[in-house]
Amino acid sequence: MYRIALPNKGRLADDSRALFADAGLDVRVRGDRALSASLGELFEAIFVRAEDIPEFVADGAADLGVTGWDLVAESERPVEPLLDLEFGRCRLAVAVSDGCGIQQVADIPAGSRVATTFPKLTARFFADANVRVDIVPVSGAAEIAPHLGIADVIVDLVSTGSTLRVNGLREVATVCESSARLIGRGGSPGAPSHDDDRSRVVRGLVAALQSVIRAKGQRYLMANVPREALGRVKQVLPGLNGPTVVDILNGGDQVAVHAVVRASDIYRTIGDLQALGASGMLVTRIERLVP
Ligand code: AMP
Repeated sequence: MYRIALPNKGRLADDSRALFADAGLDVRVRGDRALSASLGELFEAIFVRAEDIPEFVADGAADLGVTGWDLVAESERPVEPLLDLEFGRCRLAVAVSDGCGIQQVADIPAGSRVATTFPKLTARFFADANVRVDIVPVSGAAEIAPHLGIADVIVDLVSTGSTLRVNGLREVATVCESSARLIGRGGSPGAPSHDDDRSRVVRGLVAALQSVIRAKGQRYLMANVPREALGRVKQVLPGLNGPTVVDILNGGDQVAVHAVVRASDIYRTIGDLQALGASGMLVTRIERLVP
């Protein structure tokens, strides 16, 4: 059994479970507050705080983990990112009060107080920028610190930016970008090594998760098109290996084409196909995509 540490609550918890379920690893929890669950024959999940996951993976309490890259970087633990899971996207940003004249990090006066839940990343960032500041570690809600007079500057996670705006704060720099990652212990657990079984299992899991992530941005499109328009249809529908062309029983001069199309291109593609005389179009989601 390989143990995977998953976030027990917060933004990353639901998306992690949904991703594993889509990859065929349904999280079978025994009750709402269970601390562990079966994930099929090879894996079991343990549910812990997202900020503790780098430590659990680094010291071997879990073989693999899912957590935010921001938390991995702040932990300074020797873990290895195996896959960007593409949810929980945010950036760790430097923000100041809207009304102040600071436009960039170099404008921040020496000796300013910086409130943050990421003291190590913040200290490293200001040291690299050659700006001497006093770090004020807080355990949450850094955005309130300027109002309380605890700090002049904050370093906090930003997703849409609405929390900053509501609190009269303005972003002036990005410390790092983050999203959820699958992590393993340092030393390339995904690469061939003396522990071959383990490597094979890790690579299989990465491939399964990757197939789900890849499929999310794609749609399967089917359409009937006039045979004589096939040349132009192929230009509209490049697909993975070019579209599949299928004869239709009693279809006359019509053939069916199937192709994988980027979700963001579907709107335009349907319009282009209609202009070429296509009909009977069908667009479906793809569960997994293995090229
Ligand atoms: P927003 O208003 O969308 O910019 O979100 C900012 C608030 O959500 C801050 O309090 C952040 O600490 C928190 N936040 C945003 N994105 C994430 C994330 N990916 N992981 C954890 N907390 C986040």
